[in-house]
Amino acid sequence: MTKSTLTLCILLATGSIVFAQRQEIEKSFDGKAAVAEFTYLASDELMGRDPARPEMKLAYTFIATQLENAGAKPLLGADGFYQNIPFRVSSPPKSGSIKIGDSEFIQGKNMLVLDGKSFSGTFELVEVGFGTDEDFAGKDLAGKIAITNAGAPGKLSPNQLFAEGRSKTLRAKEAGAVALIERFNVPAIPWQLVSGFLNRPQMSVDQGSASELPYVWIEDLKNKMTGEKLSAATIKVEGKVNTPVEGKNVVAWIEGTDPKLKNEYIMLSAHYDHVGVGTPDAAGDSIYNGARDNAVGTVAVMNAAKFFAKNPPKRSILIALWTAEEKGLLGSAYFANNPLVPLNQIVYNLNIDNGGYNDTSIITVIGLGRTSADFLLEEAVAEFGIKAIADPSPEQGLYDRSDNVNFARKGIPAPTFSLGFTAFDDEIQKYYHKAGDHVDNFDLDYAQVYWKSYILSAQKIANWDQRPVWTPGDKYEEVSKALYGDN
Ligand SMILES: [Zn+2]
Repeated sequence: MTKSTLTLCILLATGSIVFAQRQEIEKSFDGKAAVAEFTYLASDELMGRDPARPEMKLAYTFIATQLENAGAKPLLGADGFYQNIPFRVSSPPKSGSIKIGDSEFIQGKNMLVLDGKSFSGTFELVEVGFGTDEDFAGKDLAGKIAITNAGAPGKLSPNQLFAEGRSKTLRAKEAGAVALIERFNVPAIPWQLVSGFLNRPQMSVDQGSASELPYVWIEDLKNKMTGEKLSAATIKVEGKVNTPVEGKNVVAWIEGTDPKLKNEYIMLSAHYDHVGVGTPDAAGDSIYNGARDNAVGTVAVMNAAKFFAKNPPKRSILIALWTAEEKGLLGSAYFANNPLVPLNQIVYNLNIDNGGYNDTSIITVIGLGRTSADFLLEEAVAEFGIKAIADPSPEQGLYDRSDNVNFARKGIPAPTFSLGFTAFDDEIQKYYHKAGDHVDNFDLDYAQVYWKSYILSAQKIANWDQRPVWTPGDKYEEVSKALYGDN
């Protein structure tokens, strides 16, 4: 045997192993069943998969049944295939007003009641800066109202404003305050937009008695509400209704085959909720079916569970279908803060979320180039004759706008495997959060390639002899080293 025939033989052998992996997926993947699942999840019957609506039960029961039938196992500490989450929906009050000095604030106009119960009276005000732990330290708030700026230094994105506000209600409650007022003074976010968005029912994780604390935003873009004026406030909030809702993440796992590597988990995730029922479009359609966002991703993860239950890789697989992503990444955040598998055993998260696609020759991986495992995604996708590209619209901040970020912030490498798009253009906007996001205008041949290349990507990473790490210098590298004890 000459050297070149030997090389050729090695090449052929490697090629056939690679081919065999893809072959295995092609053989076991039931494309018809996957389309049926896709069609059901995006059907009108599920009314847009809104976690606040009763039809959500159809969605999570369907997903859990699929996981159970696949042979995936329930996680220890879960309720069968569910992680239950105590949500509450806080509806705007019938009326509300606050008087501070000679300034008056009216609900829906320059005041928004975000949570808490009906409430009225005149109370002393206490300035608490940004409402951080340090700001609250040593303040006497018993029977008084805490007043703070919205957000925190460097934390002024909409998501951060909400998250910070929730932590402040806990601190205010603990300090004995009777209410929390935040001055909304973030010039980058128009008040009109904020009040339009927030003056309707809002879902959040129930924080027990802290959620009963009246929590109010007042518009103060010119920073007028400071100093002397802040001696007392007369507040009146009437007709406030809060409704508990049980949320469910659907979770399961598949044991890996390698005696050592099976202690590491590759988390495969997608949110299964969508935005429910809304304003009718020109065709009179008011059900937001969310085929692209994110029934297609839910089907990918369910079918990954089916494949891996029959063909377990070396590492264990953690399956997670998140609820309430559209309400502010609530389901994934709940798991990240109440993990059913220790976070330092979850070594990688291949998440899925989608707005739409405009190029079926590619897969867009939000976060490609940020972890050491990215070449495996590129390889897997290439085997299906398409190409993986990185986020083409970094200005949209997609990486930090979906469920993956809740795990990235903890240090877990967590890209999002999305349908192919080269720009956040009109073709994407046509379906993104629109009633017309249906299965019948989805390229189902492309869906098959997308689903199968996702499974192959996950398989390659789950079998890799190295643990994926962040690219040196990434903003999440330090927290990651701390999580996995790599320092
Ligand atoms: Zn989505």
